[in-house]
Formats: sequence, C-alpha cells, structure tokens
Amino acid sequence: MANSRVSLLLLTLLALTLSLSASSPSSHNREELETPITRFQQYLRFKTAHPNPNYTAPVSFLTALAKSIGLVTQSIEFTPNKPVLLVTWPGSKPSLPSILFNSHLDSVPAEPTKWLHPPFSAVHTPDGKIFARGAQDDKCIAIQYLEAIRNLKSKNFIPTRTIHISYVPDEEIGGFDGAAKFVNSKEFRHLNVGFALDEGQASVNDEFRVFFADRSPWNLIIRAKGKPGHGSRMYDDGAMENLMKSIEIISRFRESQFDVVKAGKAANSEVISVNPVYLKAGIPSPTGFVMNMQPSEAEAGFDLRLPPTADPDLMKKRIAEEWVPAIRNMTYEIIEKGPLRDHMGRPLMTAVDDSNPWWGVFRQAIAAAGGKLAKPEILLSTTDARFIRQLGIPVFGFSPMTNTPILLHDHNEFLEDTVFLKGIEVYEHIISSLSSFEEVHST
Ligand SMILES: [Zn+2]
Repeated sequence: MANSRVSLLLLTLLALTLSLSASSPSSHNREELETPITRFQQYLRFKTAHPNPNYTAPVSFLTALAKSIGLVTQSIEFTPNKPVLLVTWPGSKPSLPSILFNSHLDSVPAEPTKWLHPPFSAVHTPDGKIFARGAQDDKCIAIQYLEAIRNLKSKNFIPTRTIHISYVPDEEIGGFDGAAKFVNSKEFRHLNVGFALDEGQASVNDEFRVFFADRSPWNLIIRAKGKPGHGSRMYDDGAMENLMKSIEIISRFRESQFDVVKAGKAANSEVISVNPVYLKAGIPSPTGFVMNMQPSEAEAGFDLRLPPTADPDLMKKRIAEEWVPAIRNMTYEIIEKGPLRDHMGRPLMTAVDDSNPWWGVFRQAIAAAGGKLAKPEILLSTTDARFIRQLGIPVFGFSPMTNTPILLHDHNEFLEDTVFLKGIEVYEHIISSLSSFEEVHST
C-alpha cells in the first residue's frame, strides 16, 4: 500500500516535470499546440452533468478563450452559482439590433459503465470520433461560435451588427434559473437582440436541420377517488375503475394523434403527444401489495407535448370534460413547463417564409457554405429558444451536424472531427451574413 503510494507520487512528479519541460519554451508554442479540436476536447472534459454541474470551471475556460480572441466578456448571476456568460463582438453600427448565439453550459447525466470511453474524457479515436457527454448537446456549438469568430477576425472581417454569444446554465432542467431569467433581465434588453440562433439537432443525412418552433411540455397528473371494497366484489365507482376509464380515453386520443403520424400526414413533432409515465395505486403489504382490497385512491402521470399550432384552451377543455371529468370523482393538475404564446398572444414560432427577412439571409448563408437545408421542422422536445421567442424575437434552432447519428442524451454520444470543423466554417458564413445584413432596423 505504502509502496504503491510512493510510486504513484513519483509518477505524478515525473509527469509534472515532463509536462512543464514540454510547455516551458514559451506560451506562444503552447498555443500552437492547441487546435479547435483540442479546445473542443478541453471544454468537453468539464463535468457539467446534472444534478451537480460544475459551472465555474467552464465559464473561466470560455472567458479566457473569448479574451484570447479579443472579445468582451461579462459574467452575470441571476441565481447564485448559476452564471450566464455573455461574450460580445461589437459591430461597426451598434445601433442596429444585434445577433445572439445561445448555448447551454450544462449536460444530462451519463452512465459510464454503458460507454465505450469515459463520458467526460473526450477521447478522440483514430477514426475521428470525439466521444463525450455534450459532444452533440450542445458543447459543439459553444466552441464553434468562438472558433468561427477567431477565423473571421484573422481575415480582418468587421461585423456591422454587434454579435453576442450567451452561455446559460440549467437548460437541461427547464432553464427557469438560466435562460428564463436572463431573457427577462435589463441586461438582455440592453443587448437589443434582433435575431437569435440556439441549439438544434444532428441530421442523419447530408441536409442541415433547422427548427422554427419547440413543442411545449405539460405534466398532467390525474387522480381518482372511489369506494374501497373487497377484491372479490364488482361495483361501480372504484378509484381504479375511474382511473382506468380515463386512461382508456387518453389512450384513444394518443392513438388518433399517432395514426396521423403513421399515415405520413404529419411529423411526430407536429401532433400533440401524450404518454403515460407513471402509475401509483394499491395498498402496500410486506410482500408487495394487498391483493384482496380495492384501493380508494389511484393516480397516473402523463407527459404531454403541444406544438405551437395546438390550442391550449381547447386542450384544457378536453382534459376537464373528457379525460378527467369531475363527475367520475376525478381531479387533475397541469404543470405547464414554459410558455406557449409570445408577449402578443401569438403562437411561439418563427416564420420560415418571406415575411421573415432573417430566414432568407440564413438560408443563403447555408448555401454559401456549400450546405443544403432540410424542410424546417418543429423540435420534438424543448430548448431555451422558447424563452427568446416569447419576447417576439425570431429564433432558429440549428446545430451544424450532417451525416451524424442522433445521440443527444444517449450512451456513447460522439461527434466526428470533420463534422465539427465543417461546422466552424458554416458559422463563419452565418455570422458574416447576419452581421452584414442591414435591412432590419427594429424588432
Ligand atoms: Zn441541449
């Protein structure tokens, strides 16, 4: 034990000496050893997974990186220990509305035993894959934004509109202490954002995906009460009976929506999805549940997702009258996880036609980068973009990853080095086009 500890210490000292001698000639040399890929790897190694994401270290890293490119940085805490990092590249016409690029700092957890490489090691394999939790969601764009600006600066490009990058906490747990507070702050108002880009998702083919809306999640909890009784008796108005009737009705609605998808009439993200996520009932016994008693209470939980085209009031009426009627001794609770309408009462979606001048500029930038755009989509899940859309600001969800399996929140999340590097080039086109576009003067 003691011996192994001594040898470990010697090894550590040796490694330290070697690393010092390797990097001692000058800091300039050290920088030359760094590449966009190694900077991406460094960022991927911060342990930013919930439930205890480390925000301090990645914010310091990004601040140093932004400063090394000559950008202005500001860290703001709207919630203690949950910083928002703001990076700014001032434009030559700062009175024009600015462009915002958003990215979240946090990640979902990973189960290391299910991975080929440790999830926070950012191993770069000989075939070009970089494995890490966050490689796709969404640490890639965090670094690509900065690398694109670095390249534009080296080409002496001067932005007309001011460019901002925001790095926000807590997106993966709803964004309520992150983007939600940030977009409602005076600091955000001062940015005068005219258009924003936030994260998107990988594409399995050679077309880039772009998202113009998110679905809004509702948590629906339904509770039934009823007469308790002997397990042998058949009678009306039992709690389980009442709950099961509701589940049948909700299942039929689920099928009607799913049938539309199966018939190819709508994408998964364009219908209202409802999926049971838990059931709670029964009288516990030391060996499991009492089998000859019908309980007096029963409960079920559902994950509901509404596209912006859905009418939330109509949905609430359907829940109250059809799904969970009070006449069957049922009660319910809806927990809305974010807005469905903007400050003007309009559905939360960004136009993808000529009425939105940014759409044309964005599309042309993708073409200029040699890319193809897929048909714009509604995102199946939810991002921080909804908070920005709520202010009436147009936002697209976009992460430049083509020919890449969709691995966000999955085991063995990876991104190929060539895809990551191509993404930097795509953002160079996007940033230069958007910042040079002078036609829109107010939001
Ligand atoms: Zn994400």
